[in-house]
Amino acid sequence: NKLYGVSKWGSGYFNIDEDGCITVEPCKDGARIRIIDVIEEAKKRGLRLPLHIRFQDILQDRVKRINEAFAQAIEEAGYKGQYQGVYPVKVNQMREVVETLMDAGEAYGLGIEAGSKPELLLALSIHKNGNRLLLCNGYKDDEFIRFALMGCKIGKKVVVVAEKLEEIKGLIELSKEMGVKPYIGIRIKLATRSSGKWATSSGEAAKFGLSTVDLLEAMNLLEQAGLKECVTLLHFHVGSQIPDIQVITRCVREGARFYAKLVRMGCPISYIDVGGGLGVDYDGSRSTVASSANYSLREYANTIVYGIMDICDEEKVEHPTIVSESGRALVAHHSMIAVEAFGRIAKLNTIKNLVVPKNAPKVVRDILEVKETVDAGHYDEAFHDLVFYRQQAMSLFDLGYLDLQSRAVVESLSWEILAEISRHYEGKARMSEEMKELVAGLKDQYLLNFSVFRSLPDSWALGQLFPMTPLTRLNEEPTIKGTIADITCDSDGKVDTFIGDGEDQDQREYLWLHDLNDKPYYVGIFLTGAYQDTLGDMHNLFGRMDEAHIVLDSDEEAGWYIDEIIEGDTIREVLEENEYAIAELIRSIKTQVEQAIKKDVVKPNEGMKILADYEAGLKRYTYLQVDSRRRL
Ligand code: PLP
Repeated sequence: NKLYGVSKWGSGYFNIDEDGCITVEPCKDGARIRIIDVIEEAKKRGLRLPLHIRFQDILQDRVKRINEAFAQAIEEAGYKGQYQGVYPVKVNQMREVVETLMDAGEAYGLGIEAGSKPELLLALSIHKNGNRLLLCNGYKDDEFIRFALMGCKIGKKVVVVAEKLEEIKGLIELSKEMGVKPYIGIRIKLATRSSGKWATSSGEAAKFGLSTVDLLEAMNLLEQAGLKECVTLLHFHVGSQIPDIQVITRCVREGARFYAKLVRMGCPISYIDVGGGLGVDYDGSRSTVASSANYSLREYANTIVYGIMDICDEEKVEHPTIVSESGRALVAHHSMIAVEAFGRIAKLNTIKNLVVPKNAPKVVRDILEVKETVDAGHYDEAFHDLVFYRQQAMSLFDLGYLDLQSRAVVESLSWEILAEISRHYEGKARMSEEMKELVAGLKDQYLLNFSVFRSLPDSWALGQLFPMTPLTRLNEEPTIKGTIADITCDSDGKVDTFIGDGEDQDQREYLWLHDLNDKPYYVGIFLTGAYQDTLGDMHNLFGRMDEAHIVLDSDEEAGWYIDEIIEGDTIREVLEENEYAIAELIRSIKTQVEQAIKKDVVKPNEGMKILADYEAGLKRYTYLQVDSRRRL
């Protein structure tokens, strides 16, 4: 546990049992599921790895916890308004996720937020209760606004949140044209800036929101149009995953001040929408680094409730209903990916029982001397000498003066020397950048059957950290410091930065892994429920993974069951998605096989089998079939 920090990032949902297996406890009530059991059951049901596993109960638990945190803060503070959450559908638009959230949120009036026309059409249909909010964020054209007003017409509380002045003008015109009284929201730009990887939504240069000048202009226009009393909601959002609670404190106070001033100007605003930003502690460090958050859910709710109350009391205005648009904190925990290792590229690739002959080239003998320097404990000197002679050896090889055997000896000795230097400096701060770079090359690469581009786009694009652990053997000391390579033909398809131990290390350049044996070795990638599902792309044509949805059930012998299975993309599907006509592909192969038969390159029987295999191949999974007995 210490090596992987499970109890820190797991937020009570994940743990390790006495057999060294990762378990999940979706409701934190003692009912635990071993992830390896889920994998075995899924395999029995015909699912393959990589496998996307969703725990529906975690989604429900998240809804409950966020709502209860606000309810408690409101009660303790004596706040006179209420709390109503809204789920920003962009964070995970998958049907099962949205439906589960909407069901779980029924009791709390959880609304939905749409940021585009497709999301709005989805939200209009899925949002069935007139008291829940349906918020429209994002840039809007007339058609977008018309759809929103259509929702109002059929009795929904659809709030059009103006991101810029032109939208106010459109809204005035179209609400008149359609004869609908709109619910108007206004997004303001705060001067408070966020930090972390998603900070660009904040500050005066942000892409969305009205400046104070535009806000006053908007109020004038609405007053002239007789729509001032339709201004229902004030919104701000300074970015996702805000790591520092101080930023939230400042935003809330600045935003509440805007609210109070507008109310005092005669705007009947009844909702203050604090946007998203509630962080997930991906690395378990409870700090202000980008992959973490230095506050708890309870502290977050208190900060918002007390912050708004303070300003409202000071300004003597009513306490509004508090709305938050937390998506990440609702959905991140419920989903994980199980991947299988199918090989390891061992970097410490040395020649066993190496004997360097006396007549070996001088550069080889020089490097052998470096080995003696390092053995004598002169690490810095040995490192610099090694860099020098290694470079010399490579130049000699390039010019044709060094044979392959000598080059192999140079490489072998170099790895041995570097390994000793690295062992000496392990955990010590005194290591030059140059040294770090060379030593980093010593880590073994574990080859995992998945695509970073498909499954962890934020890791590839933003360097976001996701917790990873082997799913079994955690009662066995891992011996290998590895990095991860995926199966895309792209050197970017890797993970080489991992979460630290949640104590004195923010992050590490390696993951502790076990030596591979002839049994399958599974690694879990956790907290992947937010943004990753639909942001992922089809690089190398790796498609959607097989998916298993797990539900707790005390009536079941295991205490849980697979509620739903969604088969991942077949090769045929990813090709079709890229506009290939399958019939044409088959026809083309058929012609080529027929020609090969004509030229007597293959026998007719063989030709027919090739054709049949091709067609069968189109129905296969896009990922590798791993045979753990025959690893690379
Ligand atoms: N609301 C708006 C307007 C957003 O842009 C976002 C995402 O950036 C969210 C809500 C969701 O925020 P989070 O990812 O912090 O839950």
